[in-house]
Amino acid sequence: MAFAITQTCCNDATCVSVCPVNCIHPTPDEPDFGTTEMLYVDPASCIDCGACADACPVDAIFPVDLLTDSLRVYAGLNAEYYAGRETAADPAPNFHRWSPPTFDRAIPSDFAPPDIAVVGTGPAGMYAVEDLLLHTNARVTLIDRLPVAGGLIRFGVAPDHPATKRIGETFSRFHEHPRLRMRLGTEVGRHVTIDELAERHDAVVYAVGASSARGLGLDGEDLTGSVAATTVVGWYNGHPDVPANAVDLSAERVVLIGTGNVALDVARILTADPAALAGTTIAPHALERLRTSKVREVVLLARRGPEDAAYTSPELLALAQRAGVPLVVDDADPRTVAAIEAGTGKASLLRELGRETVDWTAPPVADARRIVLRFHSAPTELVGDTQVRGLRVTGPDGPVEIAAGQVVRAVGYRGIPVPGLPFDEARGTIPNTAGRVDGRSGAYVVGWIKRGPSGGIGANRTCAGETVATLLEDITSGRLPVRARRSPIAALAARFRGR
Ligand code: NAP
Repeated sequence: MAFAITQTCCNDATCVSVCPVNCIHPTPDEPDFGTTEMLYVDPASCIDCGACADACPVDAIFPVDLLTDSLRVYAGLNAEYYAGRETAADPAPNFHRWSPPTFDRAIPSDFAPPDIAVVGTGPAGMYAVEDLLLHTNARVTLIDRLPVAGGLIRFGVAPDHPATKRIGETFSRFHEHPRLRMRLGTEVGRHVTIDELAERHDAVVYAVGASSARGLGLDGEDLTGSVAATTVVGWYNGHPDVPANAVDLSAERVVLIGTGNVALDVARILTADPAALAGTTIAPHALERLRTSKVREVVLLARRGPEDAAYTSPELLALAQRAGVPLVVDDADPRTVAAIEAGTGKASLLRELGRETVDWTAPPVADARRIVLRFHSAPTELVGDTQVRGLRVTGPDGPVEIAAGQVVRAVGYRGIPVPGLPFDEARGTIPNTAGRVDGRSGAYVVGWIKRGPSGGIGANRTCAGETVATLLEDITSGRLPVRARRSPIAALAARFRGR
């Protein structure tokens, strides 16, 4: 019996660091770590000790023998990763040898403990906090504009992914750390300026994410019934900025533009059985609306082919295996069928799915809820007078109009500027070098505001590692002087109270 990593893998490599035989790959120092969709256990060298399962922050690792029907496919996926790889005489895969972890983070003892503010309590901010608290003597002020901590864990991860949300418990342990103080409900640029934070801290790490939605610039994008996926995600997660009536589910067909994991999350929630969502963290107003929803068909629209879909394989597999909600491929474009038949890479995941040439001018035919994947269709215009009536897209034989009462743009997130810090308008990020903000001493960035809105939760661990390493290098090299001072908390608290 070996262990296997399954759907909810967060890629943060906690399992890698506890595996005594180096049987989990790719490791953070292997080339494909940055691009892999998940990590894999080598069944040939796994010694069944279960250390990885104990350490996994998102409950993604199980003994192969105990995999449930819907997770059984992961035994094969784990093994497949190692097929054809060199294992030679080394019982563990020898494309990388295990070396014990080292912590080269220490600040020499003759340095005063630095005071560091971390702005943002999402995964990127919390991985930075964890690194600072575990490996240095820094005192941390943790700030968030919302009155509750969690960022994307709380307001981004879908409520039907409780295992993924569980990583929030790992992070919230640090909220109680004796060297950490929290200032929630405090917005940089509104309640406190970047200069005030810099005055009271030796360094400030901005982990503010990418909180706005990318636009498409299409005609009709502002019609009623056209919303961003960020709004839908905030709506079902009870984000304080999103009104309870922000999403209208009175249309029978909803088109989602984009095939990223956010699009899949929204498609899953809009087609879920409300009874199955009761008892999750879903916002009560969203659950209530889902109970009376008229939605019968959700269309996932891709401008490219199935071989280039943006979703990750584990998320697509989970959607395909869900009982009671068929996932169907629109086969009108021969390129779609050819790619699936060729059966390589991501396109092969669709081989077992039903196919249909959908009549897009008519309302959905199916009585029960379903999801349809349509590839090679770039959106060109939203159609309607004041309310969305349809979406015009490219098709194999010219333009096609998909009749739909709701269009959701799931084409990615975008960072917004922090007043006073430089901003790259084209990328929606704060320009930086290995996490150090360009042209602003003492300011650092981590997460989506640093590298753009891509990568799951675990990607932020290595990202935070890089930023913290840069910060500490700046301290130890003297580039960033550490000023001995009393805790900055009292002074900040007095100022916040005044506002
Ligand atoms: P994403 O993965 O970048 O997907 C964006 C989608 O929008 C792609 O399908 C893209 O198509 C499409 N798109 C962009 N511009 C377009 C245009 N002008 N016209 C038509 N389509 C357009 O973004 P995301 O879904 O927001 O996800 C962000 C990150 O969060 C990803 O790394 C994702 O994996 C992660 N995430 C993970 C989970 C999970 O693990 N469960 C859940 C949510 C989010 P092209 O590919 O053709 O550009």
